[in-house]
Amino acid sequence: MPIQDRLAFDTRLYLRLDTKAVATDLASLGFEAKLSETEIDGIYPERIWHYDHLPEKLSTDPDQLASTQAALNLKSQIYSTPPEAKRLILLVSPPDPKLNYRESRLDIALVENHGGEITFNAYGIPASWDETRVLNYVRQFQPLSDLNSFPLEKSEAITTPIPRTFYSQSDLESAAPRYLPLPNEVWRQILSGEVNKRCEDLTQQLTPIAQAMLSETLTAKTGSDFVKAGAKAEKALMRITGFRLSGEFSGCGLLNSEISSAASGFVTLQREKNGICVKIKCPLCGWEPTEEQLKNMPKSCPGKDKDGKVCGYIPKSG
Ligand SMILES: [Zn+2]
Repeated sequence: MPIQDRLAFDTRLYLRLDTKAVATDLASLGFEAKLSETEIDGIYPERIWHYDHLPEKLSTDPDQLASTQAALNLKSQIYSTPPEAKRLILLVSPPDPKLNYRESRLDIALVENHGGEITFNAYGIPASWDETRVLNYVRQFQPLSDLNSFPLEKSEAITTPIPRTFYSQSDLESAAPRYLPLPNEVWRQILSGEVNKRCEDLTQQLTPIAQAMLSETLTAKTGSDFVKAGAKAEKALMRITGFRLSGEFSGCGLLNSEISSAASGFVTLQREKNGICVKIKCPLCGWEPTEEQLKNMPKSCPGKDKDGKVCGYIPKSG
């Protein structure tokens, strides 16, 4: 079986971004991929992350079209909040085995237009809910929302952020938990500012690491260089937070640090249908390790040609 997966944290995407953007994304990766023991009614409160900016780069891959569309629609719902109004927005993403999304995710945004200036606090909420439960959740909210005139089909539900507009902060905050029922502890952490605070704190702590990673990627040349820079940042993230991260568990893609250092000399990154994929194979003969071999990578390539001659490729940086 070829070893390949999407990269959860692709350091090549950050070449033109600033330190703050990298630190913020590393922090959200930390919460998103964190292994959590606390689960309340299928929700992992410790893994909720806060964001108040939308990603600058959206995927243009055909398989990611729905999520790119959803992100653009979310942006337009946020920025069409009328003057002096507040808006509660729900966007859902059920599990999708085809794209290796093993979990559901609910995105909830609380938006405010104050004198024409629009700000928002949004929360990514990982959940173990199956597709039926996610769609039922949407269908419960929809009749109470601004989009109450027609019921959404499944394909629409995943690209349609559903807004409900209010005209006072207290209306918004008291309605949010009633309109979007979640375990009390989840709403407590969100409305008390606890989630914001822990995300901000972590982003701040990660700033020097983001800086180091950016300067390393500036001189990176091969796929393996980028994976190494990413793995260093992920390891620092784990050291600082004490989180155990697993890309496989969250389905957000393989972590750089999950690719062993011996294997990193055999890493190529290639563009595939569902995004950037990591592929571990010999650049000379195309040999690919089995999962068993991957755990204990040989120092040189054991691939053989048709005459039985061993390739013997030794990665320079591996
Ligand atoms: Zn080889």
